[in-house]
Amino acid sequence: MARINLRERIKQGVFLLDGAMGTQLIARGIEAGRCNDYLNIELPDTIFEIHQSYFQAGSDAVLTNTFGANKFALARHGFGDKVKEINKAAAKIARRAAGQQKYVLGDIGPSGDFLKPLGNLEPEELRKAFSEQAQALLAGGVDGFIIETMTALDEITIAIEAVKSVCGDLPVFASMAFDKAGGDFRTMMGVDVESAVAKMVSLGVDAVGFNCGTLLLNEYVKLAEKFVSAVKTSGSNVLVYAEPNAGKPQLVNNRAVYKVSPEDFATAVEKIHSAGVNIIGGCCGTGPEHITAVSRKLQGKKIRISKFETRNKFK
Ligand SMILES: [Zn+2]
Repeated sequence: MARINLRERIKQGVFLLDGAMGTQLIARGIEAGRCNDYLNIELPDTIFEIHQSYFQAGSDAVLTNTFGANKFALARHGFGDKVKEINKAAAKIARRAAGQQKYVLGDIGPSGDFLKPLGNLEPEELRKAFSEQAQALLAGGVDGFIIETMTALDEITIAIEAVKSVCGDLPVFASMAFDKAGGDFRTMMGVDVESAVAKMVSLGVDAVGFNCGTLLLNEYVKLAEKFVSAVKTSGSNVLVYAEPNAGKPQLVNNRAVYKVSPEDFATAVEKIHSAGVNIIGGCCGTGPEHITAVSRKLQGKKIRISKFETRNKFK
C-alpha cells in the first residue's frame, strides 16, 4: 500500500525526520569543505546509503541533501549553474531510498547572504533562486518542503512565498535557528519566537519549528514549550516541529564536536514531544543512532497537542 498524503499523515501521530547529513559524510571519509550538495551528482550511492540508514533507524521522512543547493550558496563552490541538476538528482536519490511507504522533504536552506541594504541581494533575485530550487526538487518527486536554519524574517518570508508559488498543494514546513539571548531565545538576526511564529503562520505553512542553534538540551525543551504556546497565542492550529542539535558543540582541534549520547538526546526529545511537538528529527551532531533511540521512545505514540490542553484538536 502506498503512503497516505503527507498532510494527513503528520496529523495522525508522531512523525520522525532524520538526523544530520554532514556528520554522516565525515564518518564516511568525505572531507569537510567540499560542496556537499554536489555529492548528489558525484557520490549518489553514498547519499542513498545515508538516507537508507535513517529510514532503517525509524525515520518517517528524510530531507534531501540540498541544504546549500540554492543558486547563491552553490555559486560559492562554482556550481551556480547546476541548481536544477543537483536538486532533481537529490530528490530522486531520496525518493529511491524512501520507496512507496516513506516520505521525502525537499530541503531548502538560507542563501548565505542578506537582502539589501544589509547584504547584496535583491528580493526578486532571491525569490527567483528559491523557486528555481523548489521547482527542481518538485521535478525529482518530493512529498513536501522544509525551509530551515533561517535567521532573518525577510529571507524566510521570501523563501516560503517562493516555494508556495510553485509547490502546488504540497505541505511546507519552515523553521528558524535560535540561540540563547539573555533569559530568552533569538535568532542571530534578533528574531524572537513570537515574531517568527506569527510571520510563518501568516504565510500559511503546515508546520513551524526550530532547528540547529547553539542550545543545551534542556534549553531546546524550553524553546519547544515557547513555540507551542506562541502557536496557541497566534490562534492557529499549525503543527510544531523540532530538529535540535545533539546539544551544544564543543570546539576540539578547531572542529565543532557534539558529545550528547543518543539516550540523553532521546530523553530530551521525549520532553519536547510532551510539550506538544509531534514532528521531530535532529540537526547537527545527530546520527542514525540518535534517531533509533528517539524512535524507540516515541514511535507509535499518539499525537500530543500540548500539556496544557486535554482536547484533541484533530478529532
Ligand atoms: Zn544544524
